[in-house]
Amino acid sequence: MKRWAILTAIIGLGIFALILAQMRKANVPVGPRAMLNFVADTARELARAPSAITPLSDEEEIKIGDEMARQYEFRLGTGSEDKDNQVIQAYVQKVGGQVAARAHRKLPYRFHYIPNRDFINAFALPGGHVFIGGGLIALMKSEDELADILGHEIEHIDLRHCADRAQLESGARKIPLGGLVVLPIEIFEAGYSKTQELEADKQGTALAVWAGYSPLGTIRMFEAFDRLYQEHVTHSKTPQEELSRVAIQTIEGYFRSHPPTQELTEQIRQMIADNHWENLTQMRKLEVSEMFRHESNKGAPKSPDGK
Ligand SMILES: [Zn+2]
Repeated sequence: MKRWAILTAIIGLGIFALILAQMRKANVPVGPRAMLNFVADTARELARAPSAITPLSDEEEIKIGDEMARQYEFRLGTGSEDKDNQVIQAYVQKVGGQVAARAHRKLPYRFHYIPNRDFINAFALPGGHVFIGGGLIALMKSEDELADILGHEIEHIDLRHCADRAQLESGARKIPLGGLVVLPIEIFEAGYSKTQELEADKQGTALAVWAGYSPLGTIRMFEAFDRLYQEHVTHSKTPQEELSRVAIQTIEGYFRSHPPTQELTEQIRQMIADNHWENLTQMRKLEVSEMFRHESNKGAPKSPDGK
């Protein structure tokens, strides 16, 4: 009971700080996303093991996830009337489907493209839904990077990280299981514990390799993130208009909620050595890269924050 009391106090404090910041209308660096990450950071430390809870059945999890995905797509708008977006959506589904083939849990894995260049992120919902933003795909050069990222998200579902988080939140907020769809999607965007992130990276990269992709895609993605962080967040060398505030917040959120890049890279290099994957260096071309050449945000009616 005690940890819930502490958790409630922290969430309360977070909401209070957020309201205060909004009231002052000051240009504070603490956005809602950063605050959620802070809450998630602390919550995950306090409530590591949701072991006392009976796990959701696959059917329950799929039902809850389907409803969450439906509401999220409705809120966001899919931009699915755009031809390029349809091609990218089909491509993400194709690559994701191949990678998910060897997942342990046989769930209906579905992949959703969010056509928004500010959305430099990917996340998973319970029951098999994976979302990936245009801003993230725009950083990729190879299909292998896409496969590795999707593998990571599939594993957050496969390893029950998403379902555990949903149950944890339902307990903390006293929401019955049937009402879980009201949970804010940001809870699933915020990242997981360090152990869970490393686990998802490891298993996700293995899934991608089994589907015929290079494990170097994962390392390449870490490097791209790092570069973006150095350029736009740490040094602010580049003018703000090149990367919007929402995009910068996403990158900041990523670095807040994920283990250091060096540690992530080290784990993949160790896997490559242990499994003798040294010769898997060939990467496939990203088939949709042409569509990301131009700095357009077409088909993206809203930002992921729903603003
Ligand atoms: Zn993750």
